[in-house]
Amino acid sequence: MKDKKTSIAVIGGGISGLTAAYWLMKKGHSITLFEKKSQVGGSIITERTEGYLVDYGPNSTLETSTALTELIRELGLEGQKIYGNEASNKRYIVRDGNLHPVPMKPGSFLTTRLFSLRSKLGLLMEPFIRPTAGDDISLADFVRHRLGDEFLDYAINPFVAGVYAGDPEKLSTSAAFPKLYALEKKYGSLIRGAIGGARERKKRNEVAKDRAKLFSFRDGMEVLPNKLAEKIGSGIVLNAEIKKIFSLEDGFQLDYLQHNKAARENFDRVLVAIPSKPLASLVGPLNPGFAAELKSIYYPPVAVVFTGFRASDVIRPLDGFGFLVPEIERRQILGSIWSSTIFPGRAPEGHVAFTTFVGGTRQPENTEMNETLLLKLVIDELNDLVGLRNEPVFTRMKKWAEAIPQYNVGYGKIQDLFTHMENEFPGLFIAGNIRKGISVGDSILCAHETVQKMNET
Ligand SMILES: Cc1cc2nc3c(=O)[nH]c(=O)nc-3n(C[C@H](O)[C@H](O)[C@H](O)COP(=O)(O)OP(=O)(O)OC[C@H]3O[C@@H](n4cnc5c(N)ncnc54)[C@H](O)[C@@H]3O)c2cc1C
Repeated sequence: MKDKKTSIAVIGGGISGLTAAYWLMKKGHSITLFEKKSQVGGSIITERTEGYLVDYGPNSTLETSTALTELIRELGLEGQKIYGNEASNKRYIVRDGNLHPVPMKPGSFLTTRLFSLRSKLGLLMEPFIRPTAGDDISLADFVRHRLGDEFLDYAINPFVAGVYAGDPEKLSTSAAFPKLYALEKKYGSLIRGAIGGARERKKRNEVAKDRAKLFSFRDGMEVLPNKLAEKIGSGIVLNAEIKKIFSLEDGFQLDYLQHNKAARENFDRVLVAIPSKPLASLVGPLNPGFAAELKSIYYPPVAVVFTGFRASDVIRPLDGFGFLVPEIERRQILGSIWSSTIFPGRAPEGHVAFTTFVGGTRQPENTEMNETLLLKLVIDELNDLVGLRNEPVFTRMKKWAEAIPQYNVGYGKIQDLFTHMENEFPGLFIAGNIRKGISVGDSILCAHETVQKMNET
C-alpha cells in the first residue's frame, strides 16, 4: 500500500464493512465508513427484552478461520464468546411428521430411519461413481448423481433451507458449496475425499472445517458489530446513503445523502460491502453490464418468528439444536432452532425459546401473511412437531424482504466480474456476502482477504 496515509471510504456498515474498516484503520489509514441506516450491523440485529434474547438475523456462526478467532481475541470479546451447548450437536430432520436425529456416527447412520436401507447401501457405491461433468451444475444434480434422491430430499434439501433459505435445484455446487465441489474434483468421490482430506489435514496439523465450533456471544451476535463500531469511532457516518461513485484520475468521488441532504466527498480508495441491488445502482454508470448481472441476483424473503413458552407447555424435550424441514414433507416452515437449548440466557428461568424460519425460495408467499396469521402458522407447525399445551407467552418477528443472496448456477460468472471490476477500476474493492460465501464467518474472511489485497497493491 502507498506510504502516505490513504483516505479510504468503506460503504456499508454490516459485518463485512465493519471488519474491513477496522483492519484498514489499524494499518493507519484514514477511514470513513458510510452506513445508510441509523445503526451498524446490517443483517445482525439483537434485542434483549423481558428476559429473552432475540437474534433476528444470524443466531450463531462457525469458527472457521484464524482471522475470525484472532479478531475476537483482539477486540477483547473472548469473555463474551459462548460455544453451542453440547446438546446442540444433535440436530433433527422431519420425516413423516416425526423428528429424526441426523446420524453423526457410522453406527447411528446404519440404524437411522431417516434413510432407507437401499440408500444406505447405495452410499457404498459412491466412490465408484464417475465425477459429474461440467464445472457448474446445480447442487441437486450433483447430489442426485453422487448420492441419490433420498439424500437430496432428506439431507441436502433441508440443510440448504437452513443455510441459504434456498433451493438445491438452483444453487450452484461450485459457487455455493466450493469445498464439496473440490472434494469431487480432487478425489473423484466425496467419501474418498473425506478420508483423503482428513489424512492431509492430520499431516498439516489442521482441524477440519466441518468440525468448526459454533459460537455466539453472551449478549447476542450484535456484540461483534457494536464492538467494531466502538473501535472505529468517529470514522463512522450513519444515515448516509451513497448514491453514486465516480472514478477520477486519482481516486473516487462519492455522492451521498446524509439525513436526506446531498453531500460529496473524494477518496483515494473505495471498498464496497453492500447487497447486490444497491451495489448495482452505484456501479451502473461505471459498468452497466456488471450492474445488470448484480440486479439478477435473487434474495428470497424470510420471516424470523421468535416464540417463548413456559417450559412445562412444551411436550417434547428440546434436546438439540432444532429441526429442519425437507420440502417433500410439505410443511409451512423451513425449520426451527431451539435457541434456549443452544445458548444460556436466551429465555427466562422456566421458559424455552424457538426461532422459526418461514419463506425462503420454497414458500416466499408465506412471508406476505399478516403477523397474526404468520404466528398462527408457526404455532400450528410447532404444535404438530414438538407438541404444545399452551400459547406462547412471548413473541417477536421480523420479515426480511431480501434475506440472503442465492449463489445460483451461473454465479461463477458474477464472481469473475467482481475481479474484473477491481482490475478495471484500480482502487475500487468489493467485499460482502455476495462475494465468497454468505455466512458471517465467510463475510469476515472475505473482508480480511480484501484488506490484504489492498495492503499489497
Ligand atoms: C435471517 C437471516 C439469518 C441468518 N443466519 C445466519 C447464521 O445463523 N449464521 C451465519 O453465519 N450467517 C447467517 N446469515 C447471513 C449473514 O448474517 C449475512 O450474510 C452477513 O451478516 C452479511 O454481512 P454484510 O456486511 O456482507 O452485509 P449486510 O449485513 O447486508 O450489510 C450491508 C450494509 O450496507 C448498508 N447499505 C446498503 N446500501 C448502502 C448504501 N448505498 N450506502 C451506505 N450503506 C448501505 C446496509 O444498510 C447494511 O447495513 C443470516 C442472514 C439472515 C438475513
